[in-house]
Amino acid sequence: MPDSLPFGIVGAGLSGLVAAMRLHEAGHAVVVWETRDRVGGRTWSPPLGPDSLHLDLGAAWHWTEHTRVQALAEQLGIARVSQHEPGTALYEPRAEQPVQRFPWPETPPPSWRLEGGTQTLAQHVAADLPNDAIQLNHRVTDARQTEADVQVRVAGPDGPSSTAVAHLIIAVPPRLVAHTIDFDPALPDTLTSAQRETPTWMAASGKAVATFADAFWRRQGIDGRVVSHAGPVAHWHDAVAPNGRAALAGFLHPSGLQGLATDGRKALHAAIRRQLAHCFGDDTPAPTAIATSNWRTDAATTPPGVAPMQVEHPPTPPSVLTRPCWNGCLLWASAETATEHPGYLDGAIEAGERAAQQVFEASPEAASTR
Ligand SMILES: Cc1cc2nc3c(=O)[nH]c(=O)nc-3n(C[C@H](O)[C@H](O)[C@H](O)COP(=O)(O)OP(=O)(O)OC[C@H]3O[C@@H](n4cnc5c(N)ncnc54)[C@H](O)[C@@H]3O)c2cc1C
Repeated sequence: MPDSLPFGIVGAGLSGLVAAMRLHEAGHAVVVWETRDRVGGRTWSPPLGPDSLHLDLGAAWHWTEHTRVQALAEQLGIARVSQHEPGTALYEPRAEQPVQRFPWPETPPPSWRLEGGTQTLAQHVAADLPNDAIQLNHRVTDARQTEADVQVRVAGPDGPSSTAVAHLIIAVPPRLVAHTIDFDPALPDTLTSAQRETPTWMAASGKAVATFADAFWRRQGIDGRVVSHAGPVAHWHDAVAPNGRAALAGFLHPSGLQGLATDGRKALHAAIRRQLAHCFGDDTPAPTAIATSNWRTDAATTPPGVAPMQVEHPPTPPSVLTRPCWNGCLLWASAETATEHPGYLDGAIEAGERAAQQVFEASPEAASTR
């Protein structure tokens, strides 16, 4: 295989970018194709409100055992923010019933967010790659193994194109791979069916974030948590930034997701304002801004027309999902293929590092060219 060929990576989520970072550190040229106009995948923390707060519309937390996230944040100089401890919370049984206060019954395991939002991990890793390494708005449609290389077909703003790479790492949720990328020669049936049966963690969910002039709930002696059976948000929590800028964040209730699908975003945001007034009182300050996400209908997470699978916990992946194909030239990353914390940010890092390591094992001369 010619030395000059770059290593290809599909997907600029955390997993693909970690793989790219490791290969780049070993001295290789990398090209990362990303179908969206941004990096980060299921981490997404766009600026919101008058203070441009970066709130998490995708992944938010990591826990004590997520040591890879902690190590990467430290390496990149990103501060970790301890999640506000629960105290007195609110319970909203129905929109027309009074809201009740209750002491949060348990002390949850400690968790942290990242200053600037979790997307900042991907943004920092991307910033350390060469300028032309990441091709945004480029969707990989198929990959073909030849005797000399792997040919990658990509649909970009200027039309379709083909690029030869030495190794190709697919850092896309397995279920999405099975529905949207073609392989020649075809993948083994056992692999394709395992990919189809692997739920994409949190793909069935949506989130809401809201900014405020101040954290009035703390003055009311409430920790910011609201548990609601009414919706449109099922579970609010405190998301105040380290500089004190006030925000709440939450997961959409099924009624919120349904409302978004049928009535649109404007109607959902109006319903969120009504819910906040109902929970905290009519005289509480209205949010200065609201944003929502819906990962169910996000074509770069959930294959179009295919209902997301809902599971309590991400399953441990079968080993076929992690095994290289095509004599070590086609490799798999993505959080769902991690063995330790599948589905989570920590798993995304593990899987990206594993895929890079497998490239080094497949061609030992690739381990370092420096
Ligand atoms: C609402 C929500 C809340 C979550 N909360 C948490 C949490 O609190 N803690 C936690 O640890 N984890 C959480 N997660 C999971 C976490 O976001 C994921 O584990 C992690 O971001 C996955 O990274 P990844 O790189 O494996 O996949 P992704 O982030 O999905 O990245 C895959 C990338 O591939 C791109 N792509 C797809 N198809 C193609 C193609 N054909 N060509 C080119 N590019 C393509 C996508 O656009 C995407 O950028 C949450 C997820 C969601 C959605």
